[in-house]
Amino acid sequence: MTDVQSALPLPAARNEPVLDYAPGSPEREELEARLKSMKDERPLLPHVIGGRDVTTEETRRYTAPHDHSLHLADVAVATPEHIRRAIDAAKAARAEWASASFADRAAVFLRAADLLSTTWRSTLNAATMLGQSKSIFQSEIDAACELADFWRFNCNFAARLYEDQPLSVPGSWNRVDYRPLEGFVLAVSPFNFTSIGGNLPSAPALMGNVVVWKPSDKQVLSAHYTMRLLQQAGLPDGVINLVYGDPGTTVDTVLADEDFAGLHFTGSTAVFKQLWREIAEALPHLRSYPRIVGETGGKNFVVAHPSADPAALVVALARGAFEYQGQKCSAASRAYIPRSLWSEVEDELCEVASSMPMGDVSDLSTFLGAVIDENAFNRLSDAIEGARGRGERILVGGGTERERGWFVQPTVILTEDPRSDTMQRELFGPILTVYVYDDADWDQALELAATTGPYALTGSVFARDRAAVRRATDALRDAAGNFYVNDKPTGAVVGQQPFGGARGSGTNDKAGSMWNLIRWVSPRAIKENFTPPHDWRYPHMG
Ligand code: NAD
Repeated sequence: MTDVQSALPLPAARNEPVLDYAPGSPEREELEARLKSMKDERPLLPHVIGGRDVTTEETRRYTAPHDHSLHLADVAVATPEHIRRAIDAAKAARAEWASASFADRAAVFLRAADLLSTTWRSTLNAATMLGQSKSIFQSEIDAACELADFWRFNCNFAARLYEDQPLSVPGSWNRVDYRPLEGFVLAVSPFNFTSIGGNLPSAPALMGNVVVWKPSDKQVLSAHYTMRLLQQAGLPDGVINLVYGDPGTTVDTVLADEDFAGLHFTGSTAVFKQLWREIAEALPHLRSYPRIVGETGGKNFVVAHPSADPAALVVALARGAFEYQGQKCSAASRAYIPRSLWSEVEDELCEVASSMPMGDVSDLSTFLGAVIDENAFNRLSDAIEGARGRGERILVGGGTERERGWFVQPTVILTEDPRSDTMQRELFGPILTVYVYDDADWDQALELAATTGPYALTGSVFARDRAAVRRATDALRDAAGNFYVNDKPTGAVVGQQPFGGARGSGTNDKAGSMWNLIRWVSPRAIKENFTPPHDWRYPHMG
């Protein structure tokens, strides 16, 4: 049974400070050196199965989204046999890891956080910048800070969870044993956050589970270094097994195993729905009902009231929509602006969007890099053309460039149809669509924000009038799992704004919180009777 006391008191969790990488700072110097060396290393990224590196003859080339000629790594390609071995390695590690004390498990992740915030910081940042085309600031808040936060805070949340114990009455002792799931967990992670890649296998592992981790094929370099870091932090062999598998092969092999016990997924809504269906079909031969945790897409709104502060609104729209090229699940992608504010907001927003530096992220003055791949590039180019075709105005941006890398300019579309394609569909790129409403139609604007599209991930209201804030908070209650007042809808911080959405946006189990960790345990209630009765008759029987 998990020994809670031996882990207490845990080091108090605090958010990892964001370094600024200003010219002349030591962190900038170290990062620039690491970017330079990483460009020349071109490693072969192996699967890590049972703690062993496994390479394959067949490999895949991994290049930078902002520079097609920058060949960063070659990646092993998993066959069903590799996935099978990863499952077997996980199952072989289970008995020892599931019975390890909480202190022993937590120590691995606390150490990993400390390594990440010190000696590994520049490596994880450089891999994220080059492989996923993040600016240094976007990488720092993800690969360094958020991942360290997930590891540190989850240890504290787990301790809180374990402390939740039932009442004992005289003569008996009741307790709950927070068992890991019986079997193994599959973690399937997206391209856009190194921290999510690290958290999806780690959160179940912290709770005593063993994991097969399949990262996105667009995040392999930072996934590789995350795994190396965890190994250096003392993660026992087989607890997390990293395989670069084709999605279909991985899922088919995993679901064929009766011990599949849970899916920890982040990615698009369509893929999650498909996985849910496949799990349901596999149920007849599975030993348990698997836990299914998925955080998925969004079409996040910003609604401004006529009392909004226009300058704050512009910054929130620009940062919310265009940081990391709009490739955050929380990115602002539809806005409802009152006519009385629009002309001021329009001018400023277009000015800001057209002055954002876009290019190679290893130039630290860059604000935007490239979008992740050719599919994303085509999807975004088509969406812009579609808007043009419908006669919607492209106020700024709209340009693309595919020769050097997959570049899409920060783009603002003005629509007169509040339910147009780009007001509803998750585009996952630097495209913001604006609908201007008459000031008198505030209630209608809230209704539109609440009911347009299938998602409910994040959203913001901008207003100085308190009654308007209250009205929006009520009207939009079911429209976002993370709701912001006078702030952009992105940038949730672990421990401060537990993150996740409902409707088509996921199961809302709030990554980096106790609510997520609870899904990776199967509690066993234990009653110990100190004075068992010796007479079967009850007193009322005389
Ligand atoms: P994606 O759905 O294309 O891929 C996610 C993962 O699923 C990858 O590992 C991929 O290889 C795998 N996958 C793809 N097809 C599969 C299949 N048929 N079966 C099994 N696995 C499959 O998503 P992405 O492009 O990597 O990430 C972007 C998406 O993720 C966006 O929709 C975004 O909103 C969402 N996202 C959500 C959150 C959140 O917290 N809600 C956070 C980050 C990203």
